Amino acid sequence: MVADNLKVKSENSKIRNSLCLFCSLGCGVSLRDEGKALAYAQDNPVNKGALCPRGHYNLELVNHPGRLAEPQIGKRKVSWEEALTFIKQELQPFRKDEVGCLVSCLLSNEAALAVARTAQALGVKNVLTAGAAADLEAYEGNKWTVPGAELASLDHLEKSEALLIIGDILSRSPVLSRRINQVKYGKRGNQIVVIDPNQTRTTWFATDHLACRPGTEPVVLAALAGALPAEEAAAICGIAAAKLEQTAAAFRTAASGTVIYVPQSKRPRNDLGVYYVKKLAAASPNKKYLVYYLFGNTLGVNTVIDREIPDHPTYHELLGKIERGEIKSLLLFGEDISAGHEELQKKFRMLKFVVYAGYFESESPAIYDNSIILPLASQFEGGGSYVLADGSLAACEPIVPAAGSVPLEKICGLLADCKPGRNDARECVGQGPVTKAKAEAEAEGEVRAVRAAEQGPVKPITYFGNNQLVGNFFWFQVNKNG
Ligand code: SF4
Repeated sequence: MVADNLKVKSENSKIRNSLCLFCSLGCGVSLRDEGKALAYAQDNPVNKGALCPRGHYNLELVNHPGRLAEPQIGKRKVSWEEALTFIKQELQPFRKDEVGCLVSCLLSNEAALAVARTAQALGVKNVLTAGAAADLEAYEGNKWTVPGAELASLDHLEKSEALLIIGDILSRSPVLSRRINQVKYGKRGNQIVVIDPNQTRTTWFATDHLACRPGTEPVVLAALAGALPAEEAAAICGIAAAKLEQTAAAFRTAASGTVIYVPQSKRPRNDLGVYYVKKLAAASPNKKYLVYYLFGNTLGVNTVIDREIPDHPTYHELLGKIERGEIKSLLLFGEDISAGHEELQKKFRMLKFVVYAGYFESESPAIYDNSIILPLASQFEGGGSYVLADGSLAACEPIVPAAGSVPLEKICGLLADCKPGRNDARECVGQGPVTKAKAEAEAEGEVRAVRAAEQGPVKPITYFGNNQLVGNFFWFQVNKNG
């Protein structure tokens, strides 16, 4: 049945080019206009016809029977007219600084701009992006200027003779495996060094695995970039100084190379990690870098919010304001970040009024008690542009929205009388991320303060996942011991 769904059969249906945004690789998918079918986009240069298992869930999002179809005030279903009048009335008593706004990093640049302009029209400055905390931390590091650091294209990655990978890229963006294999087997002598405390699907592919102490990846990177003496780094990260020096020299002298960083929640200081990734890329000729975020449009949505609302608070500042009762009302666009997080739900229960525009009923009790829920068209249905990990701008062609759902741009237009121009969002992200200076001495001080977290149990993982099953095979034993 599922396989049947994956074939685009009807010749009469219009096929729309779309994107998977379950990671920032942004694989191309084709959707039938009514959203009933999904196919591999054979001619898309990113994935050339491949999709990972997560990519197939896009179809479920579009066609799920549980999609919200009507606005709700609490549990009561209401018309759009009543919903919007209710929101305007309820927001009225709050001061502008008592209202907060969160916009999901899965949404398009156009949707993010519509939220930013609506917030500006309402005088709200507590606007922030909602995504994986590790992604947002890494994005902060990406803003620190490092002269000469350049984002790699997928072509550069594939033609690299040396890859330095921090984290499990094959779990984050499995479709990259074809390109990583191309590096591994493309030319004798090519190197793939993986820095990770654990054995993962990616370390299984590595020509060299540097198993540092958990959480010390920024220290390893600072040493490889020449910012920290190898002996000093070795004492913190647990990798021998000679090994660090040898790895740095091999990467530096390779004809071409790419550093790939995967932000991870259990790793503190993803910002410092990305900063030293950029330093490392800038330190020798023909080396570039890539950061693969979990949320597909982390780069685009953050750029829009940074550029439109320069004095917005940080994530922790926003949570602090909610905790202290300074923010009394919250507008959540595309993401209920409290879902599944008891601590956040406790904080959200202090809010007096919540607006949640999303795809499904939120499991969060905070949303039910005192809220209004709006059915939102997904990124495929609304269409729009997105900034992928390599900095390229890609677009989804809109398809017919799920019954009752409405694109965010339209909802924002109805909430406040503002309508960004057609190309405003593209022009905004075209300026690139907002950058800021970072003093080298400051970064060095911070990286020296990094300490290893407690080592968890290290489980051997093979690319095929089930060790017991593959453990008997000869090739597995050879790879394990070799
Ligand atoms: S690799 Fe990323 S973008 Fe591609 S199908 Fe998988 S989750 Fe989607």
